[in-house]
Amino acid sequence: MEQMNEDSIPTLLESATKSLISDERTGMRALELLPKHLFIPLFTTAIKCRQKNMLKEIVKSWPFQCLHIGSLNIDDSAYDLLEALVDGLQVHSEQNLSSGGPKLRVLDLRSIRDCEITCYYRAQNASCFHSCVYSQNSILTVEESQNSDRCIELSASETENVSSRHTIELIVNISFRCGSRIRQFIQFLKKKIQQSSGHLHLCCRKLHINSMCVHTRKVLFLQPACINSLDMNQVHLMDLTNLFPRLIHLHRLRLIALPFQYCEGRNFQLFLAWLGKLDSLQDLCLSFFYLTGHLDRLLSVLQSQLDSLSLPSCNLSHRDVTVLSQSAQLNHITQLNLSDNNLFQGSYHSFQILLQRASRTLQHLEIRNCQITDSIFSAILSNLSHCSELRVFCFSFNPISMRALKAFLQKITACMKLQRVVYPIPLDCYEEENFHTTINNQKLNEVQAQVKLMLQVAKREDMYWSIFTD
Ligand SMILES: [Zn+2]
Ligand SMILES: [Zn+2]
Repeated sequence: MEQMNEDSIPTLLESATKSLISDERTGMRALELLPKHLFIPLFTTAIKCRQKNMLKEIVKSWPFQCLHIGSLNIDDSAYDLLEALVDGLQVHSEQNLSSGGPKLRVLDLRSIRDCEITCYYRAQNASCFHSCVYSQNSILTVEESQNSDRCIELSASETENVSSRHTIELIVNISFRCGSRIRQFIQFLKKKIQQSSGHLHLCCRKLHINSMCVHTRKVLFLQPACINSLDMNQVHLMDLTNLFPRLIHLHRLRLIALPFQYCEGRNFQLFLAWLGKLDSLQDLCLSFFYLTGHLDRLLSVLQSQLDSLSLPSCNLSHRDVTVLSQSAQLNHITQLNLSDNNLFQGSYHSFQILLQRASRTLQHLEIRNCQITDSIFSAILSNLSHCSELRVFCFSFNPISMRALKAFLQKITACMKLQRVVYPIPLDCYEEENFHTTINNQKLNEVQAQVKLMLQVAKREDMYWSIFTD
């Protein structure tokens, strides 16, 4: 007898769920009788087939406490599908309250890789792992206050607590562009909250504002305590501090400045005061801020230990590198990006100290386009090779010769954790002596072949060397 191929099991299940959703009416009726564990494959198939009505009904009858679409690869801009899911939420439904309320308490619309569709199978009866812990109307806060109320007043009737017991959380990431569809989606969410009479907690974790426009204020109804990641392009510091005065739980902040924005005066002072309140910040990236001579002020206000610091194109000077090399932030830093700054200006001593201090933790270093010459590179090479945790190193767009590149390769292959190197096209490959003119492709091919051969000889074929960041 022919053995059943393991791959055929999900295929069978898939075809069963497909036939179930192909006839919408039958499918919807079947939901009432469907065993719990079949909801997950049915939901996955309905998402793949973009069956909006079916998705809404599945959410209505969802038999678990939480539903995360995280790993299902839904396009962020598939707003029609997202709206169908939100429409299925049984917020403030009298019928559901009388029958014990809906099972679903957390609908999570974020795209997250490796996220289970429900936490139920990993922690039965426990709360969803992704529940909000900050907001005043999150499930956890509401339940905690209910519990303490019960302790104070044991005679409180059950019905008094019914409404708060049915708080539902809707977790989203919002990428705000000045397009009409996202504005429509935000209006839709706003309306849902208004209709819920306080039973729906909209929990935005990541907010990305692509460019400031007159509509940006539409996102201000979001609860600032829930936002842990803020990304803003083309930002003016004044807009930032005005728009978001209370982002107290921010873990990650990425700002790209409007061109020619100087970090001085009252706006910069207000920004520093604002930054100084973010005591959970782990990842800070500022691009195109004119920070020359001001890095000490910036570092001095930080309340938390950063994992990642990126300051590309911030006009950092040699003095700023000295300040950074003395900062306590270097003790635990794992990622550092100082690209597109003229860091050395004739001296490399501060950068050597910087590498020494970060050598035990630094995993990812980018110093692209920092005017690093052969002599600077050979001076910092020894410190670089002592960075025992280094996994990624990018130093493209620096004027380095093939001879310096070879010396680097010979030394760095001893760093066993280093897996990825992005290196500059050596000066020898340019037709002219000037940096960044015509490349001689034949010479470049020879360089790449030589790098490959040297990695083979050093038995480090596991390392990936490339010329461009991709
Ligand atoms: Zn969950
Ligand atoms: Zn929240």
